Amino acid sequence: MFAIRPLRLRLIHVLIGLVLISIVGTSTIQNIAGILTQKKTLTDSTLHTNYEQALKLSETMNTLLGSMQSSLESAAQAFSAHKLASIQEPLDLLLNSSQLFNSVFLVNASGVITGISPASVGLTGSNMDGELCEIPLTLKRPYITSPYIGLSGRMVVLFTHPIFDEHGAYLGFVGGSIYLREDNVFTRIFGNQPRSQNGTYHYVVDSEGHLIYHPTIERIGVDVSANAVVSQVLTGASGYSKVTNTQDIPFLAGYASVGRNSWGIIVQTPQTVIDESGSTMIRNQIKYATPFVLLLLLFTLIVARRLSMPFTALTDTARRIASGERVAKLPSPSVWNYEAFHLNRAVTLAVRGLQKKADHYSVEAHTDALTGLMNRRTFESTTQVWVSGSVPFAIIVLDIDHFKSINDRYGHQIGDEVLKFAAELLQAETRRDEICCRYGGEEFVILLPHTKAEHAYEVAERIRKHLERTPSPVGAPITISIGISRFPNRELGFEEAFYLADQALYAAKNSGRNRTVISDEIRAASDFD
Ligand code: GH3
Ligand code: MG
Ligand code: MG
Repeated sequence: MFAIRPLRLRLIHVLIGLVLISIVGTSTIQNIAGILTQKKTLTDSTLHTNYEQALKLSETMNTLLGSMQSSLESAAQAFSAHKLASIQEPLDLLLNSSQLFNSVFLVNASGVITGISPASVGLTGSNMDGELCEIPLTLKRPYITSPYIGLSGRMVVLFTHPIFDEHGAYLGFVGGSIYLREDNVFTRIFGNQPRSQNGTYHYVVDSEGHLIYHPTIERIGVDVSANAVVSQVLTGASGYSKVTNTQDIPFLAGYASVGRNSWGIIVQTPQTVIDESGSTMIRNQIKYATPFVLLLLLFTLIVARRLSMPFTALTDTARRIASGERVAKLPSPSVWNYEAFHLNRAVTLAVRGLQKKADHYSVEAHTDALTGLMNRRTFESTTQVWVSGSVPFAIIVLDIDHFKSINDRYGHQIGDEVLKFAAELLQAETRRDEICCRYGGEEFVILLPHTKAEHAYEVAERIRKHLERTPSPVGAPITISIGISRFPNRELGFEEAFYLADQALYAAKNSGRNRTVISDEIRAASDFD
């Protein structure tokens, strides 16, 4: 079975993560909302602008068509008055003065071209056959054809006006043709409109949906009546809408019909312009916002670090305490965060209290309650450390003489006072690195590191003599007997060395008490002599 380890995130990582999520989340939401709003605004304004432009162009077209019709009309009147005589000169005048047509011509009632200007077209005498030409002859009223390929092989659209004599007899018509795919009045007027930067363009359709003017010349003459906007404009409507053109490209189109002859003007902007404006906006926002976001992140990082620092320090300290380390200095509680401050203070107080207790128990565990000297356990652990660390040391074992009788005479309490008195004197007579232990009852041991037996002897004698002449709590001085040994000694272990000290103590007792005896074994050893 695998235990799933719970995920433990560091506070600083959580803080930074939270800030990142909020920054990225907020700016994404704002961006999306901004882009949607901008797209809608831009779409609406583009549709309106295109609609207005279409209306303007339709006005222009209306005026232009009016001029074309009226110039043909006055020409027709002139030809009627002169019975079509002296054709060439008035035709040239009509062509050159108006600059409206690419060519102008006269057709008699039988459909024969009787004159044409410019003369270079050279179709005089030709029969104007073809369905489209028969219509004006049949209708006998002003007429505009659909684009068609004329006799000269060009794509043309014809404007005609009938000619009647003074008795109302039909004489034929005067016609003006526009070469749609060449320089003409439409390309001059509609092609010279200020071109928009955003890909907006306009085109003109005739009343049947054929392109009369389009910036792409090859498309002129093409039937685009299938286009939803074109079909709208052909009903005489004006307006704006989104549309997918006949080439499957989405556009924002404004359209207006030309009142005079039901042509239509369409002004349209590719939808991609709006989409691109969205991506431009995102790019700009990223460009302008990035430095601020980075600054904000840096600021967050600093605050997050400062905020998490006391917790991190506390965590480290807590882990050290948990691993048994004694922590002398706790992290400073001078933090500005409310929770961290109080948590730190509480932990500091708790740890201090615990350490104090631990120290107390530790002292209790190591010392003798009555005398304050090291106890037997400390004696054992110290000798163990020294023996394993190969620290040579002298052992002084001392025992109060006839202590039982002190107890017997003065009582146990006074006996205790005597023990304390003896312990104080031992401590006063030994150095800091020399260890005084209460071994048991009225028996004490002094361990003197790096000390030869002869020096230990001097220490022991000094203590013995000091006690001998100092009044104890019972009024009179007490005496002690002392045995001395040393470790290491030859091949003997510590147990034997200690035993030798004990033996020497017995020897001191047996030889009259109040004296110091060095173990014979030690005395025999070379370091003493
Ligand atoms: P010797 O000169 O042979 O050492 O004689 P002694 O009376 O000192 O020896 P013994 O070992 O017979 O007696 C030791 C006495 O120490 C016995 C015990 O009542 C007394 N004693 C042991 N521990 C304490 C203690 O903590 N307080 C008091 N007041 N007496 C103690
Ligand atoms: Mg004794
Ligand atoms: Mg004893």
